[in-house]
Amino acid sequence: MPSYKYLIIGGGVTADAAIAGIREIDHEGSIGVISAESYPPYNRPPLSKGLWKGKALEDIFRQATPGNAQLHLESKAVSINPEEHIVVDDQHQQYNYQKLLLATGGSPRRLPFGGDDLIYFRTLEDFKHLHSLVGNSAKFALIGGGFIGSELASILNEQGQEVVMLFPEESIGSLIFPADLASFLNDYYRQRGVTVLAGELVNDIDSQAQGFTIKTKSGSSVSADHVIAGIGILPNTSLAEAAGIEVNNGIVVDQYLETSQADIYAAGDVANIQNSLLDIRQRVEHEDNALSSGKAAGRNMAGKPVPYEHLSYFYSDMFDLGYEAVGELNPKHEIFSDWQDPYRKGVVYYLKGSQLRGVLLWNVWGQVDAARQLIRASGPFSKEDLVGRLPAD
Ligand code: NAP
Repeated sequence: MPSYKYLIIGGGVTADAAIAGIREIDHEGSIGVISAESYPPYNRPPLSKGLWKGKALEDIFRQATPGNAQLHLESKAVSINPEEHIVVDDQHQQYNYQKLLLATGGSPRRLPFGGDDLIYFRTLEDFKHLHSLVGNSAKFALIGGGFIGSELASILNEQGQEVVMLFPEESIGSLIFPADLASFLNDYYRQRGVTVLAGELVNDIDSQAQGFTIKTKSGSSVSADHVIAGIGILPNTSLAEAAGIEVNNGIVVDQYLETSQADIYAAGDVANIQNSLLDIRQRVEHEDNALSSGKAAGRNMAGKPVPYEHLSYFYSDMFDLGYEAVGELNPKHEIFSDWQDPYRKGVVYYLKGSQLRGVLLWNVWGQVDAARQLIRASGPFSKEDLVGRLPAD
């Protein structure tokens, strides 16, 4: 039976960051990775950004794993025995561990219709498949107005494809942006030729040889050659749950990223982490969280436990608009938009009472650390205090 000092389940960015974290403390201890993917760990953001704009495929692979860890690719862990410190995979291979990291991430939420003909965009295989479909004057329907929907709609439009977006909310990104900015985005996409069908919930999808017909709750019918659904992810928690580990919207971890079972840690998209600064428990599904929590879990497993207090950021690109964001972007908070050029360049502040909870840096760069410091500052803040506080230039 392979025996590792550190065993990681999941082979994404979190795993690679954990390996880097382990090696900062322990230069020798054996590391094993069980991954369902066919590829070693790679960066996911380029799949819906850089790879469509000339970035080379070989440049997306992570650096810490090669040479430091034994990869068990195309293997799926199916059970954990926390008492015996044993993991079993789908080929009945058993692995022994001293410390285990669950970096199992999430899987795309699936629609109850459309079957395997729909595209759920998450992996490098998904990118390769979608890339192969582009260029034949195809019409793409994108279901969902979140990160996947908005990023792929702009990318496919820029690739010269016909694109229609359908989502239940009023506007693109309205789960994180203030209503006026999200409404601006609808117009912005439309001006570029994307058909934006807001407030449309998909009721059924009919798949025929010549393409798809999408039927919405309001009675509309939309045809497309290909359908991509970006309707969120579900954390992969079943393995943890079956092993008796506490799960509640993700795998619940303490401030050291350790689960309710000794010697088992969790990090990345799947981990439900206490954010001490914002005083909330949350699961964060972005790259910076995967990198930072993965690294922290690796260090903690290797014996230098430090409480995890990182305030992660996220970013996105939509056509020539781009942003970085820190904290809690809840459009239900009180919003103060400090525009230098309305909807083109400025800083949006999310306030709860007089406490600053989140900052959106819209086409404003190099201010993530300053935004973090501002959120860390106790306030109280009024809108007047925030005018020009984070400069747009
Ligand atoms: P997402 O950003 O959570 O957006 C999901 C969207 O689908 C929401 O607009 C949601 O609206 C809508 N939706 C949910 N159920 C639906 C249904 N039955 N029919 C139509 N629309 C529905 O998730 P995503 O775009 O699928 O992205 C997947 C994951 O990848 C996320 O974890 C995301 O954070 C990550 N990702 C991140 C980035 C980045 O950081 N730049 C880029 C790409 C992907 P309601 O909530 O109103 O239902």
